[in-house]
Amino acid sequence: MNPPKHNHYIFLKIKLFFAAWASGKITVRKLWNVFICSLAYVCKWQKSAAFPFILSLELWNECNAGCLFCRDGKGHIYNINPEAAAVGSISKGKMPVEMAKDIISQAKDDALVAVLYTNGEPLLYKDLGRLVAHATSSGLMTVIATNGLLFNEHNAREILEAGIDFIKIQLGGFTPDVYNVQIRYGDVEKLKENIRMVARLRRATKSHAVILIDWITYHYNRHQIPLIRRFCKENDLMLSFRQGNPRGGLEGKETPLPTETLNMSCDWLWKAMQVNFNGDVLQCCEGVIWSQLKPYTTYQTGTSKVGDIWNGPQARATRRLMATQGRSSMPICRQCQRRGVCFKW
Ligand code: SF4
Repeated sequence: MNPPKHNHYIFLKIKLFFAAWASGKITVRKLWNVFICSLAYVCKWQKSAAFPFILSLELWNECNAGCLFCRDGKGHIYNINPEAAAVGSISKGKMPVEMAKDIISQAKDDALVAVLYTNGEPLLYKDLGRLVAHATSSGLMTVIATNGLLFNEHNAREILEAGIDFIKIQLGGFTPDVYNVQIRYGDVEKLKENIRMVARLRRATKSHAVILIDWITYHYNRHQIPLIRRFCKENDLMLSFRQGNPRGGLEGKETPLPTETLNMSCDWLWKAMQVNFNGDVLQCCEGVIWSQLKPYTTYQTGTSKVGDIWNGPQARATRRLMATQGRSSMPICRQCQRRGVCFKW
């Protein structure tokens, strides 16, 4: 079975919409904000809606799994800037929880969802549960993608009870010999136990969270697809298939898939705001792995205004570039494979 070249996650979006509706996290005002962001994108206005409808926050870019496509054996994050050798590496750090809470609080009436990870493993962030609870009490949906290896009864219960809406768990092999082709550090038997435990706790806590198993399809793991299908069915989990990283990145273990040059415009600039761990407000999530990308500004907790940054001069100038010259106007966009404000693949 060939995975879709680009997964649109249609069923997932429908399911999340109804779950969020049922839990009161969708209001007319939020839908209006989505509509204006989308209209601004279609009409290529320099000004978007009052707030982004997606807040993407890099809480901490550290990770325990060391996936081959993401970072080297010493944990250095791969820099997608081709000038990387000259401009330096990707630095690491944690976002203060007060900064994340401040951003969420300011956008709470208009934004729809807070994505609480970008490049790192969110379960490493000790305040994740507090942050999910803060977002829930502010009326925002919350989303994480995790390798799942660090789940335990405490942190799983904490985020489920805090009202998390969506947990995506990466799984690319059902047995250690296959799983560890892509994941440097991780025990797949422990991971499967963790996933069963999270599924059990979801029932016990009556959580509405959608749990999706993210099967990344490569040639080397296709034969295990029937096993993962059965596993998801037994544990009442959603399953989605997507292709592996087209750039390869598996250190010669897989032939890279061809990449494309996309001529389409990009809606990130009109719909989603990315904040890096150090407060740098970036044009999109690609910016956290592109060193030296000029931020719109650096967020200062207590003084910065999300709405002012979102429609400030730097944001408008970037939208103007995209609207008039497309992806070729910026080096980071020229190489970008993203289509829409969803998962990359
Ligand atoms: S094209 Fe890619 S790099 Fe450019 S703004 Fe969109 S998501 Fe970011």
